[in-house]
Order: sequence, then C-alpha cells, then structure tokens
Amino acid sequence: MTTNGVPIPPERVRAAEAVAAVLGPGRRVALTTHVNADGDGVGSEVALWHLLTERGLRATIANPTPIPERFHFLLPDGADHSARASREIEGADVVVVLDISDLSRLGDLARAIRQSHTVACIDHHVSGGSLPSGPRLVAPEAAATAELVFDFASALEWPLSPEAARALYVGILTDTGAFRFANTSPRVLRVAGALLECGVDPESIYETVYASAPEGRVRLMTEVLETLVVERERGLAWVTVPPDALQRHGATADDLDGIVEYPRSIAGVRLALLFRQLANGKVKVSFRSLGDVDVADLAYRFGGGGHRKAAGASLEGSIADVQGKVLSAAREYLASLAGARC
Ligand code: AMP
Ligand code: MN
Ligand code: MN
Repeated sequence: MTTNGVPIPPERVRAAEAVAAVLGPGRRVALTTHVNADGDGVGSEVALWHLLTERGLRATIANPTPIPERFHFLLPDGADHSARASREIEGADVVVVLDISDLSRLGDLARAIRQSHTVACIDHHVSGGSLPSGPRLVAPEAAATAELVFDFASALEWPLSPEAARALYVGILTDTGAFRFANTSPRVLRVAGALLECGVDPESIYETVYASAPEGRVRLMTEVLETLVVERERGLAWVTVPPDALQRHGATADDLDGIVEYPRSIAGVRLALLFRQLANGKVKVSFRSLGDVDVADLAYRFGGGGHRKAAGASLEGSIADVQGKVLSAAREYLASLAGARC
C-alpha cells in the first residue's frame, strides 16, 4: 500500500496492524527506549505519544535514563514520566519498546518489562531480541525506528500532526547523521520529504539539535580529541574520554554524540573507536566504520551489538584492560579483511 506518497511493504503493514491490535482506546501505554536515549529513541516515542493520545489512549514516556536536554523541545507537557519509570511500566496495560529489542539496554527497567504482560516493540536493530514475546514491527533495513513509526501511522491511516512529524524527522535526521551515513536510503529520504510536507521546518530543527550546544560540549570535545591515536597503516583510530571530563564540563553522555565521527573522518581510517568509563564501572566502546568493515560483528564479540557501521558494547574492566582487548581484536579483524582482499 502507498500513503503519504511512500509505499509500505506488506509485511510492515501486517506488523503495524498486529501492534495496533494491542493499542485499543482507553488503554494505559508506557513508551520506552534504550538507556541514554538518542534522537531516534525520543523522536519515535514522542511521535507515538501523539498518535496514541489523539486516539484516546493514556500514554506516558518512561525511559531508564533522563531524556537529554537537546531533545526537550519535542516533549509535550506532562508526557515524560521517566523519573518514575518503573512504576509507570508496572501500571501500564501495554509497554511499547522503541529503538531497541534487547532487555540488556533497558537498564533498571529490564525487570519491570520482563514481568509486563504485553510488550510491543518497534525497532531497526540487528538483534536476537530478548524482550518478552508480543507484537513486533522490526526491520533492520530501516534507517531509523522513526521510519518504522512513520510506516505504522501510514499503514493504519492515522494522520500525523505537525508535532508528531517533527519528532519523526528528528529521529531520522539524527540516526542518519543528518543524511550522511550509509543508512541514508532513497526510501528514508522520501519519508523525510513526506514529513516536510506535514509542515516540518528543517532549519529550525537543525538549529535546535545541532547549533544550540552548551559551551561545555565544545570544551569536552577539545579534550577528547586531544587523546586521538591513529594507526594509519591499519586504518584504525580512537579517542578516549578522560576520567571526570563529563563532570568538569557539566556535560552528559549526549554531549559526546558525534565525537567519534572525527577519528572516522581521517583519510584512510576504516574503523574508529571511542572509549568511555561509565558510572557503573563498565567501559563503553563506540564502534564506527567505513566500507566493508562490519562493526556490529566486532561489538557482538564483546557482548554488544548495533548496526554494520555503528555499534557499541559495554565491557567490564579498566579503560586500559578494555582498550587492550578491543584494540587487539580490531587490529586482527582489520588484518583479516586486508588478507581477504589480497
Ligand atoms: P553509540 O556508540 O552508543 O552511539 O551506539 C551506536 C549503535 O550501537 C547504537 O545505535 C546501538 O544500536 C548500538 N549499541 C550501542 N551500545 C550498545 C550495547 N551496549 N549493546 C548493544 N548495542 C549497542
Ligand atoms: Mn538509538
Ligand atoms: Mn535508531
């Protein structure tokens, strides 16, 4: 079928109908996404909040970690109940998990979600999917979860308000790196076009999302970039967030978004990494690649996952230990690819 000018694959229409079947009027719905929500997680849940609220459901957003300030402009008054997320999940008739299919990245909410009777999921990750069973609209080939929420609304012929369209545009914009990454498909550009036709103003969104940085974000970036190491002959580069740097600059994890693009932007680099100590003692590694380097595969070996060209993992150990392990796996992997090409 085709609505809003974009054809929807039949399996997505069927999946959208299965998800909608558990979303009857009057139901209490908790919407959630992965820890350290990004523009796609927040944009997808805000858009769905509008779609459901307009149809008489009682929807709330209940995330495992606070929504970054950068995306607060999307939030309708009273929609965000993340500060009491576990209770919201426990009191909901239906939980909709967006932009993640695994319990492991739902932080403290994993327990409550495991016990929920109906857990629907809309997501675009390559994943085993450890959520409790329930209706799924999952398509790893989608550029963003927001693309799938657009398909959900289109398949059901639920109109998108300008606020919902704006939230979906933010999801697509941020997950495609502002229409630069490999997931920038002809289809997602058509979806973005349809969203602009709903009244989205791309310039004002650009300004809010990318050109309203607190000073600390830029100062943090200079410190992180100082740590750059490049192994030119291997095509490998990495940066490390110095201990306490976030605190010193009044920054959050969201302020690190995009920094790993700098090591990736160096000529000849095919694999870029960012290392960061987490508050829970683990070390978070962000993996980014170019060309035939598959970082989802590499991250998976360390208990993480993601997409071919953007993936992540959180590992036990000190930064030095984790760097030792991950860098030697990365070198070996790059060498094996070079060998395969000869
Ligand atoms: P990030 O490096 O945090 O920007 O994450 C890049 C991509 O990797 C995200 O879109 C996620 O799909 C995935 N990802 C990040 N961290 C993890 C993790 N700990 N486990 C599984 N996937 C992850
Ligand atoms: Mn995400
Ligand atoms: Mn996403």
